Amino acid sequence: MKQTIGHWIAGAAVPGDSGRTLTVHDPATGAATARLAVASAAEVDRAVSAARLALPDWSGSSLARRASVLFAYRALLHSRREELARLISAEHGKVLSDAMGEVARGLEIVDLACGVPQLLKGELSTEVSARVDVASLRQPVGVVAGITPFNFPAMVPLWMFPLAVACGNTFVLKPSEKDPSAAVLLASLATEAGLPDGVLNVVNGDREAVERLLDHPDVSAVSFVGSTPVAREVQRRAVAAGKRVQALGGAKNHMVVLPDADLDLAADGAVNAAYGSAGERCMAVSVVVAVGAVGDDLVARIAERARAVRVGPGDDPASEMGPLITAEHRDRVAGYVDRARAQGAEVVVDGTGLRVPGHEDGYFLGVSLLDRVPTECDAYRDEIFGPVLCVVRADSYEEAVALVNASPWGNGAAVFTRDGGAARRFQLEVEAGMVGVNVPVPVPVGYHSFGGWKDSLFGDHHVYGEDGVRFYTRGKVVTTRWPDPADAGIDLGFPGNS
Ligand code: NAD
Repeated sequence: MKQTIGHWIAGAAVPGDSGRTLTVHDPATGAATARLAVASAAEVDRAVSAARLALPDWSGSSLARRASVLFAYRALLHSRREELARLISAEHGKVLSDAMGEVARGLEIVDLACGVPQLLKGELSTEVSARVDVASLRQPVGVVAGITPFNFPAMVPLWMFPLAVACGNTFVLKPSEKDPSAAVLLASLATEAGLPDGVLNVVNGDREAVERLLDHPDVSAVSFVGSTPVAREVQRRAVAAGKRVQALGGAKNHMVVLPDADLDLAADGAVNAAYGSAGERCMAVSVVVAVGAVGDDLVARIAERARAVRVGPGDDPASEMGPLITAEHRDRVAGYVDRARAQGAEVVVDGTGLRVPGHEDGYFLGVSLLDRVPTECDAYRDEIFGPVLCVVRADSYEEAVALVNASPWGNGAAVFTRDGGAARRFQLEVEAGMVGVNVPVPVPVGYHSFGGWKDSLFGDHHVYGEDGVRFYTRGKVVTTRWPDPADAGIDLGFPGNS
């Protein structure tokens, strides 16, 4: 094994000393590529202390200073983006072009954070009463913890810490133990860009590290992205410890195709959104709802495209889809296809037998397409998080929307149609936080916020955009009056506004 990955605390690489390690793999070969230090509660405490120590200076620093560090960081990330993408691809498995897209979408939030003077401008009302002014300010919350999933090892951390530190907070990031290197590189580049030591720290580890962050009295806020059961528990535990929390969970995103849709565009959209990144995206389309008589035609077009998806290692430019994250996850996903057949679905394309020559030990799985999937079937009910697309049929628009809204999740939902009226109705009626009209993966741009409804998000704030600024700051309202002889006198009544 080439290396041991440690932590990044107070502006320096720190080897772990807990005695516990995990192994990081290359999913394309199955080879162990690194040993990962797993933080103990004491090591988490060290990272939180570093963040706490850095807080007074950083939160008191000028907006100009923070913006100039972020601009330098942005330039550095641009110049190193291919290196970052290669690191993502090597540990996650996604193809390089997809990893480059991930970095670009993460950079959007750095762009947003560079504008922090504008974002924190506050509000002032003069003369709200005689000689009284009122100002609304936003101030940092303190030490923020970020806990991130494996599927976007750079983008999801970038959703969080650039905006958090721009708002004057300090940060402790606990990345996924499956692909931690991108996060460590992101932190080291932040130090190189001039971010003071301790403002951004990374602790690697697993549940023990997360639980310590959730319980730690010096952590004021928690941003979490991961699966629904963990998100729910993270929110419960962090709230019980008195913290503000935003916990984004899993998803099962539906794409409704109305009878008037352009079926080629819809089939392209479904294939790209279902199988991109091997379906390991929280905004992946996992269910197509074919409305009316278009089902057979649509399934035929999706199947034709699905059979042509080239599966191979992420660093091969010919590959369109890489391996899954682990062998266990690949086998779990394959199990859904087998069970769907037994539970009454039609398996139109079965990717479970795929082998990639020369990569027999990689965690590859071909793409699968299931038609007429019963809604009681496991493949319909669970988040599979793999390259499996379910198609269900609906007789009407109303039946399709009722189906989408019956889902416990509400992350993304898309409609494909040429009918503006139907699209407008869908936007208003669908229970999801992010809606696409002829856009299958409606991930909002950096200056709009990202977040789902129902079991896809626990907490009140979405991430990045305006909601991100609100989450990473506390509001304060200052009412000012400068003494004037005209205001003299005793009045025990509640202050009025005349
Ligand atoms: P996960 O929930 O297993 O892990 C997420 C993070 O939580 C990791 O850092 C992990 O170490 C930690 N963790 C895992 N189990 C824990 C436990 N019991 N207690 C405390 N911490 C724990 O998720 P994952 O497999 O890494 O990522 C895939 C999931 O993330 C999918 O469900 C996907 O939909 C979801 N996701 C959601 C969004 C979104 O924006 N809603 C974005 C990306 C991924």
